[in-house]
Amino acid sequence: MLATPVYAAANATSPLAPFSIERREPGPHDVLIDIAYCGVCHSDIHQARDEWGGSIFPMVPGHEIVGHVSKVGSAVTRWKTGDVVGVGCFVDSCRVCESCRSGEEQFCSEGMTGTYNGRERGTKAPTYGGYATRITVNEDYVLRIPDSIPLDRAAPLLCAGITTYSPLRHFGVKAGDSVAVVGLGGLGHMGVKIAKAMGAKVTVLSSSPSKRDDALALGADDFVATRDPDAFRQNAGRFNFILDTVSAQHDYNAYLGLLKRDGTMVLVGVPDPAPIHAFSLVMQRRRLAGSLIGGIRETQEMLDFCAEHGIASDIELIPIQSINDAYERMVKGDVRYRFVIDIASLKAA
Ligand code: NAP
Ligand code: ZN
Repeated sequence: MLATPVYAAANATSPLAPFSIERREPGPHDVLIDIAYCGVCHSDIHQARDEWGGSIFPMVPGHEIVGHVSKVGSAVTRWKTGDVVGVGCFVDSCRVCESCRSGEEQFCSEGMTGTYNGRERGTKAPTYGGYATRITVNEDYVLRIPDSIPLDRAAPLLCAGITTYSPLRHFGVKAGDSVAVVGLGGLGHMGVKIAKAMGAKVTVLSSSPSKRDDALALGADDFVATRDPDAFRQNAGRFNFILDTVSAQHDYNAYLGLLKRDGTMVLVGVPDPAPIHAFSLVMQRRRLAGSLIGGIRETQEMLDFCAEHGIASDIELIPIQSINDAYERMVKGDVRYRFVIDIASLKAA
């Protein structure tokens, strides 16, 4: 086993603190990755604080992992030492169910194996994420990071990038469509960049009026401050597609009213439950859907799309010692627009 320094939450109320875990030695089909950077997703906070229930402690969060292959198993053919690679939200799945065979491993009928807060298939040992110096991963669940994307700014693509790319593609957003992105955080800012690159007209709907200039600089065509009492009346029936990335409870019905006839709103944010009124949907034959990250094949497609369109995440690079402050700032909506941990700060400690 490989003793590995990490930051971990001991329980749902304790701050993250230095800890040590054991990684497995790479088996024949595994690669060992020396982690360079790890993005900080709001799902890390939800899970470290057990806001979704069922969290496994101690927990090492982190599913936006990038680094270099440092060792490969004897049967690995696709990767070699030194390759620049990424790991996203899952590290295994059954591989034979209908979803796995369609490249939608995130919907595996036996449940995908989360990169952290999951259990390994077979051994049932807990999985530990990327707030760590290294990770051992099966070669089929590793992504290739294109050379042209700066590595620290590539990390958030592994979750925030694919989580916004996948529904935009799946629900057929096309050039000229009027798209709203709700919530300008990690997911939201990637949604703006990707929807824009797909040719959509993009409007940011934000509870933070101070993000207006940033939204436009990120490529949005328009900005709506949702705390403005007239915002929902003025923008009624405006959008073909709404991508809702908000991490805190809010009124879905108000946002559904912003869809055109036959428009679709997709939830990717996972806050506490809130009621939906049937009238919000039936009146204009509107659709409400959800979406969960994306499969391995689509994640590689997204990385290549970002490289082709010059897209990377806008980040604040932090030492791991600042992680608890970063969580507090994210909960307040104060991140521009993704915290990324420089894992060198953990190696030096
Ligand atoms: P984040 O960076 O913290 O951004 C969330 C944004 O939501 C904030 O920046 C803020 O934007 C808005 N917001 C926060 N509190 C709000 C409030 N009280 N009222 C209205 N708006 C509020 O979080 P993230 O990493 O992008 O993640 C967002 C959500 O997506 C989380 O729930 C996360 O668990 C979930 N997620 C889902 C998937 C999936 O596969 N479905 C994948 C990753 C993450 P404004 O300041 O612009 O309002
Ligand atoms: Zn995430």
